[in-house]
Parts: sequence; structure tokens; C-alpha cells
Amino acid sequence: MAEVIMTGVTKVFPGGTVAVDHVDLSVADGEFIVLVGPSGCGKSTLLRMVAGLEDMTEGTIAIGGRIVNDLPPKERDIAMVFQNYALYPHMTVSQNLGFSLRIRGTRKPQIEEQVGETARVLGLTTLLDRKPAALSGGQRQRVAMGRAIVRRPQVFLMDEPLSNLDAKLRVAMRGELSRLHQQYGTTTIYVTHDQVEAMTLGNRIAVLDHGKLQQVGPPDELYAAPRNVFVAGFIGSPAMNLAACRIEDGDGGISLQLGEHRWPVPENQLALRPSLRSYAGREIVLGLRPSAIGLAESDGTAPRVRVTAVTVESLGGEKNLLFVPPAVDRQVPTAVAEDDGSPTLWTARLPALAPVRAGDTVTVSVDLSRAHFFDPDSTEALA
Ligand code: ATP
Repeated sequence: MAEVIMTGVTKVFPGGTVAVDHVDLSVADGEFIVLVGPSGCGKSTLLRMVAGLEDMTEGTIAIGGRIVNDLPPKERDIAMVFQNYALYPHMTVSQNLGFSLRIRGTRKPQIEEQVGETARVLGLTTLLDRKPAALSGGQRQRVAMGRAIVRRPQVFLMDEPLSNLDAKLRVAMRGELSRLHQQYGTTTIYVTHDQVEAMTLGNRIAVLDHGKLQQVGPPDELYAAPRNVFVAGFIGSPAMNLAACRIEDGDGGISLQLGEHRWPVPENQLALRPSLRSYAGREIVLGLRPSAIGLAESDGTAPRVRVTAVTVESLGGEKNLLFVPPAVDRQVPTAVAEDDGSPTLWTARLPALAPVRAGDTVTVSVDLSRAHFFDPDSTEALA
């Protein structure tokens, strides 16, 4: 096992695309870290540089205390699992699993032992004599995983290994990956654009956008305290609702002006983010998780607003209410939303039995004590 330390890692492709921009990231020995970000943010390129499949333009990568910048992939003691797990079609599962050991000249009894152990751990024992064509997608993916595990490398590098599987199998394999990591404790760097996968698998998550590291931390921390608007909009499903509004300082204290609505800012927010007061008279970006908006109670005191349900998505245990938000000066699209000019809908997370259907007009209340606030220029969270 080993730690992986990336320092100032940069990749500029011929033609000038800056795919990875001065990334500093340390992955601890035995840690499972997930690189997430939208398509094109540079996650695969970063992983490929760790693997040695892509040259760096600048920076250093160390694996297990050894700088590997000039080492070819096979000398880095890593194993990669890709989305397109290419198994050798003419070889059996057993031969596929043992291949990397054979080409390294490992002795036969040792190969048999390691293949047997890997097959046992992955539930492939009864399939060892089959060829890939006779396996299901999930079984093939397990063989691909097995080929990485069998050598006991210092580091696993995985690039969207589950994205070719159907939804149910993906969930099952996710559980399997967690179990394998608990069992072997191998340092793992895992790339995905799926933030649910990131939240469930990672000890820590590293969020990338335009080649730059935006925030690194445990999943709960990224969810509870996103450092900027990008992370706020990317982590969490459905995404955080965002809007530009004004902070006013009047007779009733500090309040938020959202279109025609004026909502008092709760004390806990002023205590938590003292700089809020200094925004009086200025614009700010408000962020509300869907769970901070609910149907208003008749006797509630929370700020409320009448909205029309555009869509209601039933998820079984709960439902999402999508509505046109109160008129604001400026919409702030989230990282994942398409900015196609149509009004950005907000989402409220409601109980499964909430009596709302598409087209209904309802009153929702907003729990501002759980709101997030960001600077509109730097997009950084207020402190
Ligand atoms: P995805 O989730 O879509 O796979 P990604 O986050 O893994 O995306 P990369 O594949 O690392 O992103 O690509 C980062 C940027 O570098 C993109 O703008 C991409 O177009 C560019 N890029 C990738 N490979 C090359 C290449 N060989 N030559 C030129 N540009 C490239």
C-alpha cells in the first residue's frame, strides 16, 4: 500500500487545452478517494497521469514515496480498471485473472493460489472455466476488477468502472467495491461523474471543474459546507436551489430581498457567517437544499411563498416538487443544469404523501436557518 502525492500537476494538450491545472492532492495510504466533476473537467486525464498513460506538462507525482514522473506504467505498481474492461475473449476467466502474473513470470503454484483467492473474494469460483462471452455484464466487470486485484498492487486506479452496468447492478457492485476496499485497504483513486457514487464510495471526494481542484473533503463535509457555488450545485441530488438576491439592513434587522419578498435572516446565520452583515445593500447568492423547503404549516412562522407545481416526481419514499421560484434579479444555474435560457426551477423535497399534483398552487415555507450564502463575484461561501 502507498500514499499518492500530486504536486502542481498540470496537463496542457497540444492546441492549448488546459485539462488539469496545478492540482495539489495527497491521497493517504489506504484511502479511497473519488475524483468527481462534470464531463471534460479533467478527471480522466489526472488519473491517466497517475497511471503513467499520459505525460505531465508540469508537476510531480509520487507513489509510495517514490517520484514516478519518468516511470512507465508497469513500473508504478498500480492497477487500472476502466469503463471498457477489455477481457481477452479467447481466454477463460482463470486465464484472464492470471494473465498479468504470467507475463511477470510468477510461478504456476503461486498464480493458482492468487487466482483462486481473487475468484473466491469476488464470487467467481464457479465461473473460472468460462470464457467472457458466456458471462453477464456484471460478472465480466467482476473479472476486470479481479485482474486488478490479483497482483496486489500498491494503488488501484479506476475510471468510471461501473458506468456500463445497469442501475441495479451498479448499486450491487458499489457495495462490492466498498467491501473489497475494507478487506484489502488498498489506496484507491476512483473517477466518476456520478455524485451519488462519489458520496457512497469515497472516504474523501475531490471535486474538479475546468481542471482545477474546487474542494476536497469527506462526503458529509462537502454536502454540509460547500466551499463555493460550483461545489454547492454539484454535490447533492436534487441539486441545491440557487438565486441571486439582495441583503438589506432595515428596522427588522438583516433581511433577504427576493423579488417582492423580504425574509428576515435568522440569528444562527449571522452568528455562523458574521460577514453577512457587510453585504447589506448588495447582492448575494442564496443556496437552499431541497430539504430546506417544505409545504407551509398553517401556523408556521417561517418565510413562505405561493408557488405553482410544474412537475411532481414521486420517488416512492418521498417526492420532489419542482416549481418556478419567486422572481429574483438573477437566476444562478447550478453546475449540472443546462443553461438554455428557460427559467431555472427550484426543487422542494416533500414526504411521499404530500397532497400536491402538477399544476397545483401551494404555499411552501423556507427554512433560512439552513440556507447557504455565497459571494456573487468570487462565488466563495461566506464565512
Ligand atoms: P468525461 O467525464 O467526459 O470523461 P473528464 O473529466 O474525464 O471527462 P478529460 O477526459 O480528462 O475529462 O478531458 C479534459 C479536457 O481535456 C477536455 O476538455 C478534453 O476535451 C481535453 N482532452 C482530453 N484528451 C485530449 C487529447 N488527447 N487531446 C486534446 N485534448 C484532450
